Amino acid sequence: MRMILFSSRQYDSDTFAEANGTHRYELHFQESHLDLETAVLARGYEVVCPFVNDNVDAAVLERLHAGGTRMIALRSAGFNHVDLAAAERLGVTVARVPAYSPHAVAEHAVGLILALNRRLPRAVARTREGDFSLHGLLGFDLHGKTVGVIGTGMIGRVFGRIMAGFGMQVLAHDPGTPADDLLALGARYVPLDILLAESDVVSLHCPLVPSTYHLIDGPALAKMKRGAMLINTGRGGLVESNALIGALKDGQLGHLGLDVYEEEGGLFFEDHSNLPLQDDVLARLLMFPNVIVTAHQAFFTREAMNEIAQTTLDNVAAWQAGAPHNVVRARI
Ligand code: NAD
Repeated sequence: MRMILFSSRQYDSDTFAEANGTHRYELHFQESHLDLETAVLARGYEVVCPFVNDNVDAAVLERLHAGGTRMIALRSAGFNHVDLAAAERLGVTVARVPAYSPHAVAEHAVGLILALNRRLPRAVARTREGDFSLHGLLGFDLHGKTVGVIGTGMIGRVFGRIMAGFGMQVLAHDPGTPADDLLALGARYVPLDILLAESDVVSLHCPLVPSTYHLIDGPALAKMKRGAMLINTGRGGLVESNALIGALKDGQLGHLGLDVYEEEGGLFFEDHSNLPLQDDVLARLLMFPNVIVTAHQAFFTREAMNEIAQTTLDNVAAWQAGAPHNVVRARI
């Protein structure tokens, strides 16, 4: 079985090479992003493994299919970058890695909260300069405050449990079944407007689908508690980036932690430090002292990487054996 991995880096080849020990597939690691132009590189590869910012739209899928590709083995949980209807029409199976250390993402969200609240980047920069003053570093106790968890699937649940451990009241919003473990910790499921109005910290853990696109827009930000904190480790498109700037400027939004960004494609996972940043919205966001941006690294722990590689290759094996596993269909 021949498989090509687009947007791959050294850490991908390391973890996939190890996980491939039992499968012994022929793996080709390709640094380029997958798009209409690079799809030709997959000619003759039955399995294509894209990453989160690769383009897997209908035109790309048609080109891949014409080159002999019959499976898209996503090495991610999110699948918003794939045209699932087109894949189904072409008979191309799409599988994903639904669960790989939810702890990695949840813990990163907590890291953003602590770093923002206690101004850790600023504090570290200051002590390195020999400045040991405290002005501007005043934080607040998380204990006794309210955290709003939007989406209580695997990651949101872990996140909610950690925050309950800090002594925070947990509010949750999810159209699905409430999570028993969160209910047992005293979490309350409430409509979105109530969660926004009552939370000191709001954290996004729902998927990006048409109904969640720009879930947090200008009106939603206006409904939040004044000075509250917003954390997005979900997907960039959940938040209307333009609306953030006004809310930060007038203090309605007190802190912002982003691990994902609407226009991150072509930017995140790359070193652009020698180039002028072309994205004016991101450039403006990076100027605020109460904003932290990380470049889609929440998943990036050793445990999660090993799990991703193993599950991706197991998905290929299951598909090859005629019993596809972790398949994503056009409507789930
Ligand atoms: P999951 O499928 O287990 O849970 C998602 C939950 O969101 C479900 O309970 C679902 O009912 C809920 N949901 C759907 N629509 C909603 C809405 N409108 N409002 C509130 N909740 C809604 O997924 P997961 O494993 O917990 O992952 C959540 C998301 O995190 C993924 O979709 C992915 O986009 C993102 N993610 C990011 C990273 C990263 O590195 N930053 C890594 C992995 C996953």
